[in-house]
Amino acid sequence: MRMPATRFQTGETVMGRWPGSNLYYEVKVLNYDSKSRLYTVIYKDGTELELKESDITSLIMFKQGSTRSRSRSRSRSPARTRRSSRSPARTTRRSSSRTVEMQREKLKDVLEVRLTPVAIPHENNSNSKHEKKEENNTATKVIELQKTETESENKTGGRYNLRRRKDQGDGKPVEEETKEETLVQVKPPAAVKTTDLEFGGRVGVFFMMLLLPVAVLALLILCGQKDAGLQNFPLQIPPLQSLWDWQVFGIVLLWILFQAVLALLPVGKVVEGMPLKNGETLKYRINGFYALVLTAVVVGVAVYQEVDLSYIHAHFLQFCTSALVIVTLLSIYLFVCSRWASQSNLAPGGNSGCIIYDFFMGRELNPRIKNFDIKFFCEMRPGLIGWVLINFAMLLAEMKHQNLENPSPAMLLVNGFQLLWVVDGIWHEEKLLTMMDIVYDGFGFMLTFGDLAFVPFTFTCQAYYLVSHPNDLSVFWIASLIAMNGVGYYIFRKANSQKFVFRKNPSDPAVSHLKAIPTATGKSLIVSGLWGFVRHPNYLGDIIMGLAWSLPCGFNHAIPYFYLIYLITLLVHRNARDERQCRKKYGSAWEEYCKAVPYRIFPGIY
Ligand code: NDP
Repeated sequence: MRMPATRFQTGETVMGRWPGSNLYYEVKVLNYDSKSRLYTVIYKDGTELELKESDITSLIMFKQGSTRSRSRSRSRSPARTRRSSRSPARTTRRSSSRTVEMQREKLKDVLEVRLTPVAIPHENNSNSKHEKKEENNTATKVIELQKTETESENKTGGRYNLRRRKDQGDGKPVEEETKEETLVQVKPPAAVKTTDLEFGGRVGVFFMMLLLPVAVLALLILCGQKDAGLQNFPLQIPPLQSLWDWQVFGIVLLWILFQAVLALLPVGKVVEGMPLKNGETLKYRINGFYALVLTAVVVGVAVYQEVDLSYIHAHFLQFCTSALVIVTLLSIYLFVCSRWASQSNLAPGGNSGCIIYDFFMGRELNPRIKNFDIKFFCEMRPGLIGWVLINFAMLLAEMKHQNLENPSPAMLLVNGFQLLWVVDGIWHEEKLLTMMDIVYDGFGFMLTFGDLAFVPFTFTCQAYYLVSHPNDLSVFWIASLIAMNGVGYYIFRKANSQKFVFRKNPSDPAVSHLKAIPTATGKSLIVSGLWGFVRHPNYLGDIIMGLAWSLPCGFNHAIPYFYLIYLITLLVHRNARDERQCRKKYGSAWEEYCKAVPYRIFPGIY
């Protein structure tokens, strides 16, 4: 059964009335319960309440109301200013206390609103008590006071603590204002204990932590051999000096530092991430594209100055082990720091209480050093930009080793295709903020390993392979591969953009033609176009591209297809994880979607 369309959408910022008062605050809609017909909203300090539709108004309506009330003193909009009040209660007070009213006129309409977690709500709490509570309260927000005629209701029915901002007004205590202070019993958001363990639980993640680095090194050793056949297992363990070099370690550290400096440059816009559990949003500077361009300039200058980038190829194993050491050190640092993380910043998936499991999954959701977000940085910068740099170094190494004047078409295709993917990812950097990695996963060994070791050293395996395994391509093959990558990219980009725009504003002209299934949360699920073709068209596009990246390496060995095999495994697993969460979130609407779109990734197959 289709749900009736809701007036306010999940994620929308609206003005919500504080129960028992006529004060409106900025809130975010979390969901809508069609049975009780109530919206769950979150206030800026993390308080969640259920409100009736009549207690919510859109920002535009609210602002219009506010403007009207200033120009027409008799407006009955909830946004009316104090001066325009006509409530009987206010009239009495006004006439009986002229002096106080004059003092109030001097004060600016700005209050500091604190939703204080207080154990014992007393109406006549003294100021000092308030002060004490407030010292512990970090969630303070300044909002414009929107007082209306039934202000007096707050004295008895309010459940919040209003306090005049210290740097506003004449600073004199106003008797009436302090009387209005009442308290609310708000529990701070507690961390969810992880009970549903993924990746085979403790034992599974323990072996993953041991085996994943070994697997990456084994892949590189195999890839660099003359005969890269899988039958060459077990591999000969290379001498220790071919695995470690302090100079290489220093270069990797410098690279990460250089990218961190670029990330800190005050260029690019600052955006807000998704609301956290406590209602706050973190700010992120979006300057990845600048970082990429600046890196390209620096690399260009280095090559012009005859810096030999094929050094990276010659010391590839050492680069990889250095990255693995940094991953381990960073993961330990993150885990130790997570001991001091606030409860609301613990990742829902990494708080089981088992050290090994939490170390792997990541305990803290958004570890930061001041405003520097370590997870966001690692997800987008050193590994991703490092990937294209390594590819370029392999291109130069191929020319050097094979005495070529120009790089081979196969190497150019691999470099070009993957560069497109990275540039696209960095260009749409902001969209990462809505992805599972940022919103749900903690930052621990799993993501640090993925970002700093797995991506730059295994995604480059086609280019690494081509240095010592040349593969000629016919013009037909070249054209077919370009077309294949183009189709994959089109599906991938269009599906991701459509969903992003739809989630932001379903009535945007770019997506308003799409059919959608409404859900009880207020969000809808697109059921036509690409999202009606398979349930994860973006994964399909990604996999088609992955195939186009591997095929230039020919069919002599399976090793260059590692990325494709990994990608399919990852996305099938990710799909299962995502569907589990969507089933929980959307219930019967998700089932309806699955019936309408039966295939997950591969039409007619899976
Ligand atoms: P998605 O971008 O597909 O996000 C899944 C979410 O989309 C769901 O949880 C749901 O969230 C929403 N959704 C699902 N179905 C619909 C629908 N029909 N209509 C509207 N919304 C829907 O997943 P990922 O974050 O995993 O992937 C993003 C991109 O990153 C993909 O292109 C993927 O291929 C790529 N990727 C690549 C990797 C690589 O190593 N190459 C690794 C990981 C990802 P809600 O309803 O809450 O909005």
